[in-house]
Amino acid sequence: MRNFFVAQGDKAFRGNQVYEWLWQKGAHSFNAMTNISKETRFLLDTYFVINHIAVDQMQRSSDGTIKNAVRLHDGLIVESVLIPTKSRTTACVSSQVGCSLDCKFCATSRLKRMRNLNPDEIYDQVIAIDKESRLYFDRPLSNIVFMGMGEPLMNYNNVLKAIDKITSSEGLKMSPKRITVSTSGVPKMIRKMADEEVKFKLAVSLHSAIDEIRTSIMPFNATFPLADLREALQYWYQKTKSRITYEYVVWKGINDTQTDVNALIDFCKFAPSKVNLIEYNPIDDGTFQQASDAAINMYVKGLERKGITVTVRRSRGKDIDAACGQLANKS
Ligand code: SAH
Repeated sequence: MRNFFVAQGDKAFRGNQVYEWLWQKGAHSFNAMTNISKETRFLLDTYFVINHIAVDQMQRSSDGTIKNAVRLHDGLIVESVLIPTKSRTTACVSSQVGCSLDCKFCATSRLKRMRNLNPDEIYDQVIAIDKESRLYFDRPLSNIVFMGMGEPLMNYNNVLKAIDKITSSEGLKMSPKRITVSTSGVPKMIRKMADEEVKFKLAVSLHSAIDEIRTSIMPFNATFPLADLREALQYWYQKTKSRITYEYVVWKGINDTQTDVNALIDFCKFAPSKVNLIEYNPIDDGTFQQASDAAINMYVKGLERKGITVTVRRSRGKDIDAACGQLANKS
């Protein structure tokens, strides 16, 4: 931007002004840039477009959760979610339009992967939720999870650029410790993140620590089996010293036996970790069903006995299809 203005015979500083309008004030048009002269705004309009997102539809759950259907400049839609608790507001953002993985229990997997989101499209979802948090909850956004549509590690560069902006002093100045990237587990990319010594947190959607079972529900596991994932995670911990969170749903008749629990305990031994047992959010006719409380307790007891931290998570925003695995542009 600075070079552009210099070439136009204007001051380089003008570039900083425009940059500020774009990234800090979230301007959607050059006309909104009120400290810039009319002539310059006209010039900008001639040379550039601002491909901004627009919140097309906002739905509110009875539990306070908000889901945004976000329209991109080319008309495609992604969803992002604001999850409020007593003390926090968490943004759950998308990284791709649709998803190329085929997890059998996830509604997003039924949407074809159309394209990767650009860094600004990820950043702007965060900004939209920050604004909603200030408006409805009177506080800024406090945490971000990359648990919306898509596989963040298959859009690695753009996700990292967005996180850089979110954490930079020109952006939201948010601590990377408040950001979690969730992945189905792409070993090569986990190693890359480790090498780059990223400072955000890592969550892995595990759901089973037994290859045959994991492949049957996450076919992607056939290409990246658990042994490879485990090695990559060990490497991650060595490099970053950052504990890994495993996301895990327990389903009736799929992974609800003591053998499953033992396999998970074994898997957790390789690097300091924590298990989040998440409630299943039904998406179909009942192929998958939430396991019984007894099965959940068996997991909790088994893990705790081995000193592994485990939490049981209740779903938020289920009534508006905003919970884990329910993002599918239904409306
Ligand atoms: N592709 C990344 C980011 C999506 S995160 C990943 O897989 O981690 C979405 C989380 O919700 C994942 O942990 C996913 O396994 C989980 N999930 C998907 N469908 C679900 C459902 N129906 N009920 C509960 N959790 C689900």
